[in-house]
Amino acid sequence: MNIHCPACGSKQVITRNLGKKTAGTIGIAGGAYAGFIGAANGARTGAHIGVVSGPVGLTLGTLGGSILGALIGATSGGVTGAKLGERIDKTVLDNFHCKQCGHSFSESE
Ligand SMILES: [Zn+2]
Repeated sequence: MNIHCPACGSKQVITRNLGKKTAGTIGIAGGAYAGFIGAANGARTGAHIGVVSGPVGLTLGTLGGSILGALIGATSGGVTGAKLGERIDKTVLDNFHCKQCGHSFSESE
């Protein structure tokens, strides 16, 4: 990395990635929730079919669908959130922090 502090000119600059971390976490939680809701809706539909096919198949299908839905939702939500946060870091937040003088600044400065 070749970024200088605009205040003191030091090369001791670190990235904070606050937006990336925050948005990634929110994305994981939101994605898991959305995935779980989708799986719950699917399970409800499956319940009507499961009445005919038997209680064991119904239980396994419901559990598997819910867990899988939550996992897929969490993964895609986390990736989306991290990408969004990366953009926020680059454009909105002061993503760089000078270890020399404590000055925080963004890429455009
Ligand atoms: Zn500095």
